[in-house]
Amino acid sequence: MSSHKIAVIGGDGIGPEVVEAGVKVLEALAAVEPGLAFDFRRFDWGSDYYRRNGRMMPQDGLTQIEGFDAIYFGSVGDPNLPDDITLWGLRLAICQGFDQYANVRPTRLLPGLTGPLRPELGKQIDWVIVRENSEGEYAGVGGRAHRGLPIEVGMDVAVFTRTGIERIARFACDLAMSRPRKLLTVVTKSNAQRHGMVLWDEVVREVVRDHPGLTVDWMLVDAMTQRMVNKPGSIDTVLATNLHADILSDLAAALGGSLGIGSTSNMDPSRNRPSMFEPIHGSAFDITGKGVANPLGAFWTASLMLDHLGEPAAARRLMVAIETVTDRGEYLSPDLGGVANTAEVTAAVIAALSGANSTSSSGLPG
Ligand code: NAD
Ligand code: MN
Repeated sequence: MSSHKIAVIGGDGIGPEVVEAGVKVLEALAAVEPGLAFDFRRFDWGSDYYRRNGRMMPQDGLTQIEGFDAIYFGSVGDPNLPDDITLWGLRLAICQGFDQYANVRPTRLLPGLTGPLRPELGKQIDWVIVRENSEGEYAGVGGRAHRGLPIEVGMDVAVFTRTGIERIARFACDLAMSRPRKLLTVVTKSNAQRHGMVLWDEVVREVVRDHPGLTVDWMLVDAMTQRMVNKPGSIDTVLATNLHADILSDLAAALGGSLGIGSTSNMDPSRNRPSMFEPIHGSAFDITGKGVANPLGAFWTASLMLDHLGEPAAARRLMVAIETVTDRGEYLSPDLGGVANTAEVTAAVIAALSGANSTSSSGLPG
């Protein structure tokens, strides 16, 4: 029996609340799933760490976690610290430091949930959004000059490289081919951004040519938002740039019922370095400390992590337990229209785990 070494970084706000709930669920899963075991190690990095040490994580932080099998992450962001400091000091430092270039976000309307769309449309949502996670609009290239003067300037340069586009396009094509519909929608904005996004289109087109049998269509990002709302069933796998996919995936999570359900993997597909799994939501200052955060996004995320760790049966079992709870509708958090708190939703999923062993999937192949 091999034990999976997981680095647990709760971070800020509701991050630690949902991640600790997730650890409880994973421990309960290990108790019922033959051969499954975890070795969790907590890292208290984040904004409180910053207040004590002047940085979001230790200087050798990446070295401390590079030997782990996966990273289970909450969120970063603090009402009293600048968001660019907290995000770049921890989450982006890990994503970019470990070259986790593929950010993958499955969305489905889970059983029993309605979401904001008309029921017949909501039911059609079964998407995976692939977000380029290493460059583009979040490359971190740019600068500020002439601070405080009337001529002050601030610039962010979106960086697109052939290598960066090609590898994420390959990942997205392979993922789309592994799903039954073999359908990929490539999101772009090459009408307005005439350099980087035009290169994006050209390189993706080359990669698509290597995938006979894959159906591909192209959307400008603004039009994509209305297609997600009006024709959700026409979409399966989506490839988009760092910023575009960030925005589209919050929309996707909301259409699936709540931002509190959305799940993410930040993958290094080469597996040279650990991948990082996190709910898509942030610190949620408005509900921090109240014990009402929806932990389902963190649980779905844990299911993605299990798939990545080569534990597809456990991943399915967890997903079935989550769906049992949403389907019954008895223990839903306020963001889903219920009255259950984090602990009650967690207990309900743990109770459902003992019964859950049939067929469902996290949305990703193992
Ligand atoms: P947010 O996701 O924190 O919150 C948006 C809204 O959704 C809030 O009303 C919140 O209460 C609600 N919500 C989010 N998660 C929920 C959950 N699990 N259960 C119930 N309701 C939930 O987004 P924001 O307000 O734009 O950002 C707050 C902070 O989080 C900022 O500092 C931002 O930079 C940071 N952030 C971090 C990450 C990350 O670490 N990956 C992602 C997004 C935002
Ligand atoms: Mn986001």
